[in-house]
Amino acid sequence: MNAPGTNAIVRAVGLGKRFGQFQALTDVTLDVARGEVLCIIGPSGSGKSTFLRCINQLETVTDGALWVDDELVGYRRVGNKLYELTDAEIARQRLVTGMVFQRFNLFPHLTALENVIEGPVQVLKRPKAEAVEEARGLLTRVGLAHKADAFPVELSGGQQQRVAIARALAMKPKLMLFDEPTSALDPELVGEVLAVMRDLAKTGMTMIVVTHELGFAREVASRVVFMDAGRIVESGPPSEILSRPTNQRTADFISAVI
Ligand code: ADP
Ligand code: MG
Repeated sequence: MNAPGTNAIVRAVGLGKRFGQFQALTDVTLDVARGEVLCIIGPSGSGKSTFLRCINQLETVTDGALWVDDELVGYRRVGNKLYELTDAEIARQRLVTGMVFQRFNLFPHLTALENVIEGPVQVLKRPKAEAVEEARGLLTRVGLAHKADAFPVELSGGQQQRVAIARALAMKPKLMLFDEPTSALDPELVGEVLAVMRDLAKTGMTMIVVTHELGFAREVASRVVFMDAGRIVESGPPSEILSRPTNQRTADFISAVI
């Protein structure tokens, strides 16, 4: 079990996650290549969020090993011994990933622009003027330059989610994690968020997207992974997994979603 040292930005080997007696993830083995857009689909409770949360260390892994950007997550290896990382080291590792949640989680007392500069200024200690300039560029990219001074309550759900994407990008992550980013949106607002994600994919950003939007997966994903009951059941190009799944559970799930 070596560190990637390859094109992989995420390498999970026999990954498991237990919550008490409950095994939420079992034997998850998966490489995600740099530049790849991986879509994860699967029924509710299949471990999709838990897998993303392990990658960005909102959860700790209980079995197997996980590397992100060529570093073992949560541990440092010295000779043949593993040492747990300090909180500061974990915070540094977590900067590799940006995460967008189903609920937008913007700071309600800050404007769109202030939400986007918060991390760069407070965490990365970037000069404010520079952060503001970049934030304006990011808000333009997500189509919200004109809403820079709006507070979250003044924005639609789709606009809030686009601000959340700009906020995550402001930290210059190498990998973006999306956990059902359109599931909480009114149907007419889903498209604008997917359009921003599609543009982001075109820039070459590495993305892991948990979604029920099979049209998006079909069009944008380089690979689709189907999870069920904490395991990867099958994975492959969208044309195979979504059109000709070999596993009955995948087929049942896809016909239920469509
Ligand atoms: P999905 O995102 O695919 O819907 P989750 O990763 O959220 O699934 O959850 C997988 C399983 O793990 C579910 O059965 C869920 O109840 C359980 N689970 C998730 N988080 C916790 C937790 N903090 N404590 C106990 N069980 C949890
Ligand atoms: Mg989930």
